[in-house]
Amino acid sequence: MLDHLQPLPILLLLLLFLSLTLSTSESDTPISRFQQYLRINTAHPNPNYTTPINYLTNFANSIPNLHSKIIHLTPTIPLLLLTWPGSNPSLPSILFNSHLDSVPAEPEKWTHPPFAAHKTSDGRIFARGAQDDKCIGMQYLEAIKAIQSSDPNFVPLRNVHILYVPEEEVGGFNGMRKFVERKEFEELNVGFVMDEGQASTNDEFRVFYADRTPWHMVIKAVGMPGHGSKLVDNTAMENLMKSIEVITKFRESKFVIVKAGLAANSEVISVNPVFLKAGTPSPTGFVMNMQPSEAEAGFDIRMPPTADPQLMRKIIEEQWAPAWRNMTYEITEKGFLRDNMGRPLMTLASDTNPWWSVFNEAVTRAGGKLSKPEILASTTDARFMRRLGIPTFGFSPMKNTPILLHDHNEFLKDTVYLEGIKHLKTCFAGISILEKMILHTI
Ligand SMILES: [Zn+2]
Repeated sequence: MLDHLQPLPILLLLLLFLSLTLSTSESDTPISRFQQYLRINTAHPNPNYTTPINYLTNFANSIPNLHSKIIHLTPTIPLLLLTWPGSNPSLPSILFNSHLDSVPAEPEKWTHPPFAAHKTSDGRIFARGAQDDKCIGMQYLEAIKAIQSSDPNFVPLRNVHILYVPEEEVGGFNGMRKFVERKEFEELNVGFVMDEGQASTNDEFRVFYADRTPWHMVIKAVGMPGHGSKLVDNTAMENLMKSIEVITKFRESKFVIVKAGLAANSEVISVNPVFLKAGTPSPTGFVMNMQPSEAEAGFDIRMPPTADPQLMRKIIEEQWAPAWRNMTYEITEKGFLRDNMGRPLMTLASDTNPWWSVFNEAVTRAGGKLSKPEILASTTDARFMRRLGIPTFGFSPMKNTPILLHDHNEFLKDTVYLEGIKHLKTCFAGISILEKMILHTI
């Protein structure tokens, strides 16, 4: 009996040894650390913030000179702040930001489970958050770790903060918006921010200097109800349709500019109908011989920071929903177009902004190339920092990569991820060296 059983424990021990060896070596690589971070499900509507904060804190504790602090924005919503002290902490600091949460995923529509971080044989790592934006969250730390391993004496000139915020994907209202109003944020004395950007499909990195601002607009028409056979003026439907015609013409005038290649989608004001609500319901659908007394339509308007909000309101009031056509309107502003000083909400991407010069030079020195700075078509937490007048660029070093944020089968290739770390490493070190030459007076 014993003779028969003995090989089994030996085999088990061997397997245990092998699995331990494999898991130890796996946990030691930047790719496996990225996979582990991706496996933590932080998708809405119930993002788990405790596990990723613990994971990041443990990793940060393994890197010399990084200090961690957890700050609660609400009793259940925390953020993680890491600090790499600089040699001159009285100078304004640099903040590298990423968010902990992600949008949900529909697993049945993915080729690999969205929270397994499966790596294919060609190196693609499939996971929700792989591009948006758990990549940069880990790359920041890997870059600092790499700098310190190649030069243990390296100290940045100014304090460098790495921030992991919650709730970005639901507007940031219980996340970054709350944090920028806190004393702890003021105390960071932030001079420059790097936040998330987007993948580029070619060999150049993309950089974003502004976000577009959404307005949600509902226009409503009222009129006398009437028999469906009568031709009368000013019915609710007629007035609403006239407005839709005018708005459609405005939309086309912007779209023509984009189609002609004269501006990017994100550089023009876009307006898209999102709902129509009219008609008198009947058990079989709608009453077909009656003109309704009310009709409404909803629109998603997106404005670049160069748009004039006063002019936009005037256009809406006089042309899109004029009172003389029995129209009313409601606008819900979902963001801001101006900073606290009344300036357009954007960061100058030219050499008049010394932070731009330093960043651009650091990317170039790292062997990278930036494409023409862009306005992001959507919105990020960057708007809360720009509102305070803090220069903020969106930059996620992912090139030759399809843009898959919020999409099914979001992935990032291992080689692209590793190259991004190298790039951020040179950027971190480069910024610190270059700023000694360019920025020491800021
Ligand atoms: Zn994001």
